[in-house]
Amino acid sequence: MAHVAIVTGGTRGIGRAISEMLTRDGFTVVANYAGNEEKARAFTDETGIPAYRWDVGDHEACLTGCARVEQEMGPIDVVVNNAGITRDGTMLKMTFEDWNEVMRINLGGCFNMAKATFDGMRQRKWGRIVNIGSINGQAGQYGQVNYAAAKSGIHGFTKALAQEGARSGITVNAIAPGYIDTEMVAAVPEAVLEKIVAKIPVGRLGKAEEIARGVCFLCSEDGGFVTGSTMSINGGQHMY
Ligand code: NDP
Repeated sequence: MAHVAIVTGGTRGIGRAISEMLTRDGFTVVANYAGNEEKARAFTDETGIPAYRWDVGDHEACLTGCARVEQEMGPIDVVVNNAGITRDGTMLKMTFEDWNEVMRINLGGCFNMAKATFDGMRQRKWGRIVNIGSINGQAGQYGQVNYAAAKSGIHGFTKALAQEGARSGITVNAIAPGYIDTEMVAAVPEAVLEKIVAKIPVGRLGKAEEIARGVCFLCSEDGGFVTGSTMSINGGQHMY
C-alpha cells in the first residue's frame, strides 16, 4: 500500500511542487495550508490532492489535524515540514510579535508535526521526515534574525530527531534551499533580488521542482541510509 505523505504548506510554491512530485512517485499525498482558500481550491481541482487547513504553529491543531488525516487517509509515514513565513525587519524595527510568529510557525511547526506523527512511524518501523530549512539559516541574512534563527533551529532539530529515529527505520533530514522563484521571493524588492541573483554562481533563481526532487530522493527507499543530513540546493551560493 502506498505510504501517506503530508506536505505542510503544500498547496502553493515549493510545497505544491513537492506535493505533486511525491504523488508522481507513488505516495498518497495530503497537503496542509494556512488559509489561502483560493490557492488551495485551485490546487485540489488541478491535482486531485486533498488539502487540509490548519495552522502548523498551533500544537493542538496539528494533533487533531493529523488524527483526522490518519482517519480519512491512513497512517502518516512521511512528513514534509515545508510551511514557512517571513516577517523581515532589522533588529531596530523587528517587534517581539515578528520574532515569535516566525519561531512559532517555522520552527514550532516542525515540532508539532513530528509530535503528531513520530510515534506512529516508530511503531510501524518506517518513516521519513524532511524539514525545509534555508540558506539564510546556514549563512544568516541582514534583516532576518527571526527567520535565520528559526531555520538554523530546524537544522539542529533535524540532527537530534534523526538520532532518535534511526533505530526505528525513520530518517530525518533537512533541505536548505537557496533563492527559489516563488511568491515568497517575489515579495523581495527587485533591486535587492538583482543583487542576490548576482551572487548565485549558476546565475539564476532555483525552481520549486529542484527542491521537490531532493525531497523525493530523501523520501524514497534509496534514501534510507541518509539521515541527519542537510542537502543544500542553492546554485552554489553558499558552500561549506
Ligand atoms: P510560499 O509563501 O510561496 O508558501 C508558503 C506555504 O506555507 C503556503 O502554502 C502557506 O499556506 C503555508 N503556510 C504558511 N504559514 C502556515 C501555517 N501557519 N500553517 C500552515 N501552513 C502555512 O513559500 P515558499 O514556497 O517560497 O517556501 C516554502 C518553504 O521553503 C518555506 O519554509 C520557506 O521558508 C522555505 N524557503 C523558501 C525559499 C525561497 O526562495 N522561496 C528559500 C529558502 C527556504 P497558505 O497558502 O494557506 O497561505
